[in-house]
Amino acid sequence: MTLFNYQDFFTNELTQLHREGRYRVFADLERETRSGIHALDHRTGKRVTIWCSNDYLSMGVHPDVITAALGALEHYGAGAGGTRNISGTSHEHVLLERELADLHGKQSALLFTSGYVANDAALSSLGRLLPGCVIFSDALNHASMIEGIRRSGAEKRVFAHNDWHDLERQLASVDPHRPKLICFESCYSMDGDFAPMEAICDLAEKHTAFTYVDEVHAVGLYGARGAGIAERDGLLDRIDMFQGTLSKGFGAMGGYIAGSLEAVDFVRGFAPGFIFSSALPPCVVAGIRAALHHLKEDDTPRRALARRTASLKAKMQANAIPALPSPSHIVPVMIGDAALAKAITDRLMVEHGIYIQPINYPTVPRGTERLRITPTPLHTDEDEDTLVAALVAIRQEFPRWRELAQAARP
Ligand code: PMP
Repeated sequence: MTLFNYQDFFTNELTQLHREGRYRVFADLERETRSGIHALDHRTGKRVTIWCSNDYLSMGVHPDVITAALGALEHYGAGAGGTRNISGTSHEHVLLERELADLHGKQSALLFTSGYVANDAALSSLGRLLPGCVIFSDALNHASMIEGIRRSGAEKRVFAHNDWHDLERQLASVDPHRPKLICFESCYSMDGDFAPMEAICDLAEKHTAFTYVDEVHAVGLYGARGAGIAERDGLLDRIDMFQGTLSKGFGAMGGYIAGSLEAVDFVRGFAPGFIFSSALPPCVVAGIRAALHHLKEDDTPRRALARRTASLKAKMQANAIPALPSPSHIVPVMIGDAALAKAITDRLMVEHGIYIQPINYPTVPRGTERLRITPTPLHTDEDEDTLVAALVAIRQEFPRWRELAQAARP
């Protein structure tokens, strides 16, 4: 019998990824703080304009954020020095948790090293420990929620994306005495659509279910103080637990949950992803606090992003670029094939100095490969015109794009 050849196995798997056009190639970027939207790509040696960053409000390069982070770096040093339980809790952590709880109108909040870990740790603990728990999960939920639910071992029911009628049918079919968790996102990252949050809250009340919403793509961006869609829609007190990231609207790194004292304390006491991992560096936390203060008090970045998004979408529509009609700041442009998406993004990078990462399976279903374009307040009219002109030129070079994009709409 031949022995297992690890090297051959890895090579064959990678060859298959290459064949499907799904092999991941990273842009090797050096972002310019001063412009915020330009970077040197070390692979090509070119200066490029970034059109796919999740630093949606450009808070990562805001002078107040950088000053706060630098000050804390000098004051506290580079790292936290341990897990939250063992020496890693700094005053910055305590203050940020208070401020996040206040943002969401909740009693308590808890920080994690990323939004992924927050979802995985909170859901795996809640689902595992709530006795006989059933978890109702939107079909398009993020991998971190799916993984947390899977690891909880709880019974899982997937409801059709944003279909609260389907959710209602499924809730009604479960023993009313069992604990029920409804998990969904407020703004879906790949289609840019919003959840029917009010209808879901109504159903949760009717069926005594616990609502857990991932506002990762909405915190900082929506609502008068940037608390997200629940704040925008006046539903803060109807959601049991919020989960958010500090890496997108707030421009840095980390994740959190916010909820009642007891619910948050429960996760704090039982979630291994919280207990056994080092705390975020205090300097990062200080930078986030500066972003949070800014976005709570000043609506200017949100309004600037909304204007930029509307103007980009209008130009795309005028030029028949196949953008999904998303209501949010996320502008998905359909391609419908992984190899074609890669060829188009390579052309954008090399010929036009525009960086957009192609989005392929498993992030989106096969056949719905796309460009996920994210404007920021720092992009200009000129940047927008350059992007749209480049897409129009590339469409001439790849006639297949037009046919495939039509079929690719989710
Ligand atoms: N939830 C959603 C909906 C996401 O899109 C992501 C990542 N982009 C996460 C959670 C994980 O957040 P983080 O990047 O902070 O780990």
